[in-house]
Amino acid sequence: MIENDDRVLIFAPHPDDDILGCGVIIHDCIERKVPVKVVYLTYGDGNELSFIKFNKWDLPVVIPHEVKEMGERRHAEAIAGEENLGLDKSNLLFLGYPDFGTMDIWRKHWGVEQAAKGLFTRANKVPYSDAKRPGAKYKGEEIMRDISEIIENFNPTKVFVSHLYDHHPDHQALHLYVRSALMTLGSSIPLLSYLVHYTHWPDPQGYHPDSPLEPPLPIDPELVWTTSPLTEKGKGQKYNSIKKHETQYKANPTMLESFIRTNELFSSIPMISLTEAKTGFEGVNGEVESEHPISHNIKIEDGNLDQIIRYTKVLEKRATIFLYLFPFQQQVKFSRLPKWCLKITKSHVRLYDQSKLVISDKIVHHHDLKNRSIEVSIPLDFFPNASHLFIQTVNKIEHITVNWTRWKILQLV
Ligand SMILES: [Zn+2]
Repeated sequence: MIENDDRVLIFAPHPDDDILGCGVIIHDCIERKVPVKVVYLTYGDGNELSFIKFNKWDLPVVIPHEVKEMGERRHAEAIAGEENLGLDKSNLLFLGYPDFGTMDIWRKHWGVEQAAKGLFTRANKVPYSDAKRPGAKYKGEEIMRDISEIIENFNPTKVFVSHLYDHHPDHQALHLYVRSALMTLGSSIPLLSYLVHYTHWPDPQGYHPDSPLEPPLPIDPELVWTTSPLTEKGKGQKYNSIKKHETQYKANPTMLESFIRTNELFSSIPMISLTEAKTGFEGVNGEVESEHPISHNIKIEDGNLDQIIRYTKVLEKRATIFLYLFPFQQQVKFSRLPKWCLKITKSHVRLYDQSKLVISDKIVHHHDLKNRSIEVSIPLDFFPNASHLFIQTVNKIEHITVNWTRWKILQLV
């Protein structure tokens, strides 16, 4: 997968994802003397699993300075893991955005909105002095700025990033930031995605070094997977690097060892073309696993974006469906474009641009309780000159996410 003239850039949501997803890619780069850089979105300071193992009172750590200590510890583990593969720490960049908070930033902390507050650190800006840009606010445009600068300065030929269909929100968010940064730069560099968190995957769990790593089933049949084989030497080095992530390895060795297989696995994620010319259904299917009983279908007709959200279980009285629709166009800064969110309950639909309520009588909404479907029609004027739309549906009961559809990227032109 790696050529001798490559320049490889790897984005990891947390320390250890780089090794789990791309350990052997990095090993391969070192062997071939191919330049490689690893970028960590967070310090991994909010990892409950490892906290339980490391707090002397057997309680999850939620005291900000102890959280920061965990961040520093995972920072040191990341360096040790990469040095074990032969990658000097000068090739590692730590951004320091909030663990478990980067999807919240993606959804509602852009432009005029206030910075987000880290769930564990309680900070609203990067609190680490050894981060790339200490003091950078927890805002979408700050993350985009860091990612875009790194891509422009390093000029990679291949970019690896966490998978959009991963079940961890930071993993999805990092994919969205990197994807939109590449789109803004007008770049066509291959973007390869690796999966880490997905229900009942890798299957089987645990140390099975002679078994292949196969894509989870069922997952989107449109995805094309590429495998990169592991040599015995690469496998051994990957295993040792995993063990350098002591906090994680002690908390869940079975999960981490599941990534010592005969190969690593990557996919690209195709955009979905959706234009008025294609009057037929160019749908966006939701999760098909039984734990995600919601689907979201879209078409463009008569200058409107028509959507049908179907759910298989009875919608709870207190349930709210959040429909996110983020337009993209290359000429306007992404932070300045609206971040639409329709909040749909049994009785009404309200439109927000991040936290701001927008009054509009142009949105047509019909909730068919009997057939368990919601139809929403939005004029395309809400997305002027947009070339793409990032969309997702989330079903919440109060603050708890019950189910969701995957983020999808629609191509409108
Ligand atoms: Zn992770």
